[in-house]
Amino acid sequence: MKTLKFGGTSMADGAAIKKVIDIIKSDKEANYIVVSAPGVSATCEKVTDLLLNVIKNKDNFAKPLERVKERFSAIVNSLNIKFDLDEYFVYFANDIKHGVSVDYIVSRGEHLSAMLLAKALDYDFVDAKDIIKFDAFSNFDAELTNEICGEKLRQHKNAVIPGFYGALPNGEVKTFSRGGSDITGAIAARAVSASVYENFTDVDGFCASDPRIIKDAGVIEMLTYEELRELSYMGASVLHSMSIFPVRHEDIPIHIRNTFNPKGNGTFIVPTKKFKEGKYSRKKRAVTGIAGKKEFLGINIEKSLMNEELGFGRRILSVFEKYNVSFEHMPGSIDTLSIIIDGNGLEKTILNRVVAGIINECNPDNIEIVQDISLIAVVGHTLSEEINAIARVSSALAKNNIRIRMINYGASKLNIIVAVDTQNFENAIKVLYDEFFK
Ligand code: ASP
Repeated sequence: MKTLKFGGTSMADGAAIKKVIDIIKSDKEANYIVVSAPGVSATCEKVTDLLLNVIKNKDNFAKPLERVKERFSAIVNSLNIKFDLDEYFVYFANDIKHGVSVDYIVSRGEHLSAMLLAKALDYDFVDAKDIIKFDAFSNFDAELTNEICGEKLRQHKNAVIPGFYGALPNGEVKTFSRGGSDITGAIAARAVSASVYENFTDVDGFCASDPRIIKDAGVIEMLTYEELRELSYMGASVLHSMSIFPVRHEDIPIHIRNTFNPKGNGTFIVPTKKFKEGKYSRKKRAVTGIAGKKEFLGINIEKSLMNEELGFGRRILSVFEKYNVSFEHMPGSIDTLSIIIDGNGLEKTILNRVVAGIINECNPDNIEIVQDISLIAVVGHTLSEEINAIARVSSALAKNNIRIRMINYGASKLNIIVAVDTQNFENAIKVLYDEFFK
């Protein structure tokens, strides 16, 4: 038994959905299907973005909503199925008028696309709000969900489930973060103890580096859950980084496949423990992938005898906690400490308050903010066995005149993280890719 998830481009239009149907029909084990809302098409943006536009124009939403309906009309016509879209959209418009939540509106792309695919396949439709549960504080309730989802799905031999959302205890719809249908697929796979979670996208697999920077980046044949976490956290965007949490309860491998090239090998993401036990094998290489992210900033704090001042680190971190800012890395030396934070979306006033708070709490000799830092992670399970890995990273960058602002090695056995100035970001990725993959 398998769980298959089809991402937005796989559901973008009738032609793509026909490929999806072929894939499902050719596989007897394809019992549980999770879908996203229709993705970007040749002529139109993603349905989720159209729905966000409906929300933006809540007082005058008829036109933006009509665009959503047009996308689905084209799909219904092309699949030649009977579905009363007029009725669906009359009810939907009425719901919007009566003030349904933002999450409800934005979830309807998945809701409707799952209903249509279920109809086309003659599979049951199981609404995600009945099987994916959040608690009263909007936190995903993994165990309750697993229980309910397993019980409910076992009542259906074949089912299509909308991705991306579930329900709060009061029954209101609650969505995951963007790209969250990947998580729904993983939840469904865990609940039915699937043999594999096949995640279909529009690329041949997980690339060893960002293909926008490395044009000929190769597809990784196999990576472990942990490697995936490191790479996707650092910006590799094929799969939502939270997707491994549900499947790792059951050691279910994830297979990234291309809807438009289903014969391709794709990428297998396998349980780390089993990989280490030698249950899986792959071509030996020091580094599995290289990924990076821009828009970090560092706060460098200097104070003589910092190491002897009891509670210094705790006081600094309490300031971050007070202002709800989480830190990414904290490299330091005897009298200095750097705190790297994600600058994306961080308001200047909050940053100023954090700095003022640190001065107040810790009275440092010096404090400076370093803007425009990018982090790059060089990831691989055998990295820790490579005696010269760190030397290769630093000399490759040095040879190309790229200054390392920070380096983090040893805390995790499977990665080396370097910070570089953002102006050197793309070049640093190229240099490191050449060093380890060419
Ligand atoms: N449709 C949602 C989004 O655009 C969820 C998903 O695609 O997985 O983020």
